[in-house]
Amino acid sequence: MTNVRPDRAEIERRAVEILERASAFDVPVDLEKVARSLEVNVHFDTLEDKVSGVLIVKGAERNALINAMHHSNRQRFSLAHEFGHLVLHDSEGDRLFIDTNMRVYQRVGGATDDAYNQPDSMTKPHEEREANQFASALLMPSELVLREAVNLDLSEETDVAYLARTFGVSDQAMSIRLQQLGLLQLTNLS
Ligand SMILES: [Zn+2]
Repeated sequence: MTNVRPDRAEIERRAVEILERASAFDVPVDLEKVARSLEVNVHFDTLEDKVSGVLIVKGAERNALINAMHHSNRQRFSLAHEFGHLVLHDSEGDRLFIDTNMRVYQRVGGATDDAYNQPDSMTKPHEEREANQFASALLMPSELVLREAVNLDLSEETDVAYLARTFGVSDQAMSIRLQQLGLLQLTNLS
């Protein structure tokens, strides 16, 4: 056990490793395969609207609850985020992660810890940031984004939207990822 926080490169590396182990390094990423590989039971449940997802780890049993009422793109991000908690943070015994609406798609880099510090959150702000970075890397691996983007004009909103659909993510999540990868200028965002 270590207290060293994983940096972004480490999180990217772990996400690709998980995808390869699950034979899911393909577009769109098959989260069912990832769930099977990580031995997580996924349940789509009626949850409070503000709750995106919950991860319950008890001994060898791993259950993820995803809000059944949310848009499928958001469900995918929530599930990938819960996988991030499992992969990055599950070293402290039995844990319960409850994720309320974090408006994660509106955040890129530089967010203060405060922005993630929801009053009823049971996780630490740095864990939320890391789980979001992991989700982004898992759903939009840089190598696959570069491959799919090669013939697109990313200054065109329609091309970004097309890329988002290809990966099963929201336009906003894709825009943020493209910024992170240096493929899109911040000023292109409305
Ligand atoms: Zn979380």
